[in-house]
Amino acid sequence: MLMQEREEEALRHIRSARQGVLQSELWKELGVDSRKCSRIVKKLFDAGLIERREYRGDGSKTYQLIAKKQATDYSVILAGGEILPCICCDLECVPEECTLLMDWMYHLALEELEE
Ligand code: SF4
Repeated sequence: MLMQEREEEALRHIRSARQGVLQSELWKELGVDSRKCSRIVKKLFDAGLIERREYRGDGSKTYQLIAKKQATDYSVILAGGEILPCICCDLECVPEECTLLMDWMYHLALEELEE
């Protein structure tokens, strides 16, 4: 497995736990040794993707690793200043026949043409 894939896997593990994961457990979950895990964690930390908090459990020191929240990119649900109509929609959904969705997609296509 390439290093980058290990980092992605580590990040998935960390993101999957709301309270984060302990570094002393992460390396076991990843199937790597603790030194390799430290390098993976350092890369994620240096990239600003995780926080590290000192953690003392059973007498030994480790880090609690917590994923940083990602900024939400609202541009993906906006077209022509209109929000995607499917957000908060309670209509009976038949996307192929939905004029709300067609109109929104029309705005999206116009925006892409203008870029
Ligand atoms: S496709 Fe139309 S009906 Fe379906 S969720 Fe979106 S807006 Fe609502």
